[in-house]
Amino acid sequence: MSLKAILFIADGMADRPVKDLNWKTPLEAARRSSLNQIAKTGVCGIIDPIAPGVPPGSDAATLALLGYNALKVYSGRGALEALGSGVKVLPGDVAFRCNFATVNQKSVVIDRRAGRISNEDAAKLARNLSKIKLRRSLNVDFVFKSTIQHRAVLTLRGSKLSAAISDSDPGKADEKVLEVKSLDNSLNAERTAKILNELSHEFQKVLKNHPVNEERIKHGLPPANIVLCRGAGTTPNLKPLSEIYGIKAACIAAAPLVRGVCKVAGMKLVDVKGATGTPQTDYIAKARAAVQALKSCDLVLLHVKAADVASHDGKAKQKVEVIENIDRMAGYLLDKVGLDSTYLAVTADHTTSTATGNHEGDPVPIAIAGPYVRCDDVEKYDERSCAKGGLGRIRGLDLMPILMNFLGRTKKFGA
Ligand SMILES: [Zn+2]
Repeated sequence: MSLKAILFIADGMADRPVKDLNWKTPLEAARRSSLNQIAKTGVCGIIDPIAPGVPPGSDAATLALLGYNALKVYSGRGALEALGSGVKVLPGDVAFRCNFATVNQKSVVIDRRAGRISNEDAAKLARNLSKIKLRRSLNVDFVFKSTIQHRAVLTLRGSKLSAAISDSDPGKADEKVLEVKSLDNSLNAERTAKILNELSHEFQKVLKNHPVNEERIKHGLPPANIVLCRGAGTTPNLKPLSEIYGIKAACIAAAPLVRGVCKVAGMKLVDVKGATGTPQTDYIAKARAAVQALKSCDLVLLHVKAADVASHDGKAKQKVEVIENIDRMAGYLLDKVGLDSTYLAVTADHTTSTATGNHEGDPVPIAIAGPYVRCDDVEKYDERSCAKGGLGRIRGLDLMPILMNFLGRTKKFGA
């Protein structure tokens, strides 16, 4: 019987002690009998996703948990987001995360999300923006696609492009839209900055009198009269997991960024109806999809975004509820997969503090249950309990070799 593994990543689940929870972390405060069961039967530890004290982005952390050296391979968020949204990013392309936003006549941002414009309206705008033709002499093509609400992705394709350019998005309201500039004074970066500034200008001209915006203004809604760009990136050049470990791997995630990371790692992306990337997601549908995917794969990454969303909103109690739903997923997995042939690893991609609303550099808990693991004395799944476990304190990129060693997929070093 071949051995398999589910890597269950709860985005931003780890936290610091919270005053409103009697100085427990949300994990410690949650009812979590199934997570505890995994800790109790498994081997536990804590992980520094990138390095001790370094607050990781979800993209870099997921790369690390898949065994890649994020410090070396990470090449910007834009390309990963575009790939995860189903937009091709070829070598040489530069991709961006974009927002439909609202600006006043002085180009000051009034609403960075254009009133969280609906998917339908955004798609209509995107369709017209896609028809824009840039000057032929620029020798560049682009793909623009709206994704969820105000969010969109943009890919530039042509020769001599560079991702070393600044954002047009000032990052907050009441500030002026920024001119895109080269960050390294190279000719390619200057050219790319110029192209993006010109394209943004063309976008604005189309958006100004677009029927969707006329309709929005009529109803007192903020018009989506500008596209803000940020996070210029290129596609990272990774060896797929299939090549490194000889495994078939699948990803179950709603968040485009995580899907993008899994795509560059050569994983199959599984779509799940009802998976939204929010606290209202269909938790059990995702767990069910993971069990299903495991039938034809050796490794399934199961990602849930909800705990991170609650943390960024500063909602500790909601985070506790989300974790209790995550515990239900863990219960479903324990029920459906046999721990005699399947490894169940549960972790978070980073700590997100409900007190600060930010990703923090504190380590995250890890528990691995499955055949022949050196079960330790840890009986509960949380930040402080797992710190006493047999895995000790490891780096994010150590996790995949540890799992693959259990699966018999790592190579001997030496004779
Ligand atoms: Zn994350």
